[in-house]
Amino acid sequence: MKINEIFYSLQGEGLTMGIPTAFIRLTGCNLRCEWCDTLFAYDEGKEMSIEEVIAAIGEMETNQICITGGEPLAQAEALDLIEELLEMNYLIVLETNGSLNLELLPCSDNFMISMDIKCPSSGMAENMVLDNLELLGPNDQLKFIISDDIDYQYAKSIMASYEPACNIVMTPVGGSCLKTLAEWVLRDGLAVRVLPQLHKLIWGNERCR
Ligand code: SF4
Repeated sequence: MKINEIFYSLQGEGLTMGIPTAFIRLTGCNLRCEWCDTLFAYDEGKEMSIEEVIAAIGEMETNQICITGGEPLAQAEALDLIEELLEMNYLIVLETNGSLNLELLPCSDNFMISMDIKCPSSGMAENMVLDNLELLGPNDQLKFIISDDIDYQYAKSIMASYEPACNIVMTPVGGSCLKTLAEWVLRDGLAVRVLPQLHKLIWGNERCR
């Protein structure tokens, strides 16, 4: 499989925010979001075997793994990597962009699907596979990256239509409208978590953080 980078940092997003984590970033993405901050993951990387990937993360002081991209499920071998890591009792968060079918993913208490819903400001909302929402359970999370009120209203409409059974996170694009987003959520009494991107608060746009 083609790996963009493997690094050790704090989880910057979602329910596992702040936990020291080994990140495995796979190369390639099938989307092109307007505000994408990982352009370098589209093509850059090197071929590594699953054994080489596992050896690299084995040197890191954590049992928490984040498999991310790009879009990690764009490479079929991602499923094999997940299975191998689960057999080793790692706790895995899979970050996926919501545009690919998630039916083949494993069910395990040690495995969290972290699925994005790309809102209108991304330019990619038409690519979402919304049937995936029925596959998400209490161990999973759904992330809306919010840029403006149009995105926020879109997120509310998805929540009302599908009533997801998973945890729901709203995060502002680049942290720019965190206070506004917080006020909207409080005004509407939504059952969501409003979270920043921790790594950007700490390290800005520094690479491998
Ligand atoms: S899905 Fe993620 S990696 Fe792909 S274009 Fe969108 S933000 Fe970038």
